[in-house]
Amino acid sequence: MKMIQALYIATICIFFTASSLAVSADEFDWPMERITDKIYAIYGPFDLPNPENRGFRNTVVLVLTTEGVVVFDPGGSAWAGEKIVEKIKMLTEDPIVAVFNSHAHGDHWLGNEGVKKHYPSAVIYGHPNMKARVEGADGKRWLDMINRVTEGKAGGEKIVAPDKTVNDGDEINIGDTKLRIYHTGPAHTDNDISIEIVGENALFTGDVVRNQFLGMMEQDASFKGNIAAIDFMLGKNFGHYIPAHGRAGGAEILNEYRTYLVTLRNKVKQLYDDGLSDFEMKPEVVQTLEAYQKWPGFDIRVGPHISRVYLEIESEEF
Ligand SMILES: [Zn+2]
Repeated sequence: MKMIQALYIATICIFFTASSLAVSADEFDWPMERITDKIYAIYGPFDLPNPENRGFRNTVVLVLTTEGVVVFDPGGSAWAGEKIVEKIKMLTEDPIVAVFNSHAHGDHWLGNEGVKKHYPSAVIYGHPNMKARVEGADGKRWLDMINRVTEGKAGGEKIVAPDKTVNDGDEINIGDTKLRIYHTGPAHTDNDISIEIVGENALFTGDVVRNQFLGMMEQDASFKGNIAAIDFMLGKNFGHYIPAHGRAGGAEILNEYRTYLVTLRNKVKQLYDDGLSDFEMKPEVVQTLEAYQKWPGFDIRVGPHISRVYLEIESEEF
């Protein structure tokens, strides 16, 4: 038994080493992991966009099809998009034929510009609300912001919005691969899509799930809807869940993030019922969320999260 266990562990180690491709010694030295034969993930850092990361801070997914490469969320700057193109060239000679943006936050679509520079005919897909936001005031806001906080190192010159829209239940066939789109209503934003790579037992969750990381929840977010969206994803029982920040894994990633959201919501509701304001309840809520304090982003996000949950509960009362 011990022998078998040792062999098993050794096999996993070899497998992991072989599947984690070495990267050339340039400044885009982020790990790439093979999830299945046709799915790879590139893991960016958790830091806010800055001159060092040049706007790259998310998990990028590559799907290899017989028609070419499909990219989910090609980074948070034109520079990152171009670096992802370079990295894909180390994996395959096939062109990028399609890009999917999980939602309208800039770290998930500003890389479109870099991809289109090399592959102008690649088709970009996003939710209708995402396309509208990027083509509206949000697009310019994100482009200006990324150029400002990276001190001009993001390489961004123009807004590249989706060419086509996709919505819940849509199926897109690219070569031998079918992608199924889900949108369960407002969750992390009002324009999230998650993408099933059909036949691969895998789902890209977008920012509806983060692996041990906390990010923003803005006016269009719904904590209640986010919890429901995670329940929907858990119900699908996929073997591989790939979040838009942090590493891929199993259902445990979803359960962990869900527990954060539920714990936060329940505590705010309890203290709201006790008559406390969001400001007054913050110390007690933070104490309840002690298990999450080591997650990157906690310190800057927990206050705004409490305020948003408070407003959400208040609006449910009327
Ligand atoms: Zn986001």
